[in-house]
Amino acid sequence: MAGRSGAGGKPVETRILPGDEPASIAEAAAAIRAGDPVAFPTETVYGLGADALDPRAVARVFEAKERPRFDPLIVHVADADAVGRYAIHEDAADPRVAALAALFWPGPLTLVLRRREVIPGIVTAGLDTVALRVPAHPVALALLAAAGVPVAAPSANRFGRVSPTRAAHVVCQLDGRVGIVLDGGPCRVGVESTVLLLAGGRAVLLRPGGLPVEAIEEAIGPVERPAHDAPDAASLSPGRGASHYAPGAALRLVEPWPGPGLVTAAGERVGLLAADAAGRAAAEAVGGPFVATEVLSPGGDVMEAAARLFDALHRLDAAGLDRIVAQPVPDEGMGRAIMDRLRRAARR
Ligand code: AMP
Ligand code: MG
Repeated sequence: MAGRSGAGGKPVETRILPGDEPASIAEAAAAIRAGDPVAFPTETVYGLGADALDPRAVARVFEAKERPRFDPLIVHVADADAVGRYAIHEDAADPRVAALAALFWPGPLTLVLRRREVIPGIVTAGLDTVALRVPAHPVALALLAAAGVPVAAPSANRFGRVSPTRAAHVVCQLDGRVGIVLDGGPCRVGVESTVLLLAGGRAVLLRPGGLPVEAIEEAIGPVERPAHDAPDAASLSPGRGASHYAPGAALRLVEPWPGPGLVTAAGERVGLLAADAAGRAAAEAVGGPFVATEVLSPGGDVMEAAARLFDALHRLDAAGLDRIVAQPVPDEGMGRAIMDRLRRAARR
């Protein structure tokens, strides 16, 4: 479809630039400073970033993604010093912030703190909090350093669709809507950051993600974990209520595995998303045939499974399927992030 990310709504030419070349970083940083959104790699997923202090640049990110304005963006910063510039003193001085930053930044942890006025309301969807993260990817860090501004960036996909973990995924969804896509290879973590609210003394898990909540609790003690569809979670973290990560074909989590949902009708094009080799064998023993099969981690390594999840969904998406059947993983540690994404992909 024709793009609408160019200034004035005109389509732009989308170019993939090698992220490891200084000239690409310089060009992308100049684009950010000029108010043009840029797609860039992080260790979690690819982001579509704009100068977080420029409301018009941020508006173009919402427009390119067709993201509803009630869904706030994460602000990416170069180092933990930035917390004091964008969060109120009381939250920035919370010793838990320093402890978590020292342990997990750069990394897949986003901290939601009460914001200072300098952060425009469009970034936070009007909330009085701001989400901050230092990403652990050399290309992202080089871009942040060269741009010299905080970069507000949601995942670089159309709203509600599968998040991108490769530059090619970004082009599939945002061609004509973004000028520069920095290529940093496949994302190492592969699912979005863990989002943690630390305000007014509370600690609330708003989104399970690339850093297991168990690791956070080891550092700062118990974290409130609202049930994945609790009203408290939805009001504290807008955008979490919607269907998300959805491939074109309906996805169904088959619990328990293997189950009757794996039986296919004659002529039906069904894709299999197995967590491991044993899960695949079990599914093929009771169901199928499957016209496309993805095994997230043959040996059942949950980190590998997370890293490959969105890539597998993109491939299944391209296979022209009637439906996808997905195997659950244990809902703990990194598996919590995988199950969260699968449940949301199944909701439509
Ligand atoms: P994305 O960048 O697409 O991974 O989405 C960012 C998500 O972070 C949002 O959908 C919210 O769930 C969460 N988030 C960002 N900013 C805030 C905030 N100020 N308060 C609560 N949640 C936030
Ligand atoms: Mg997203």
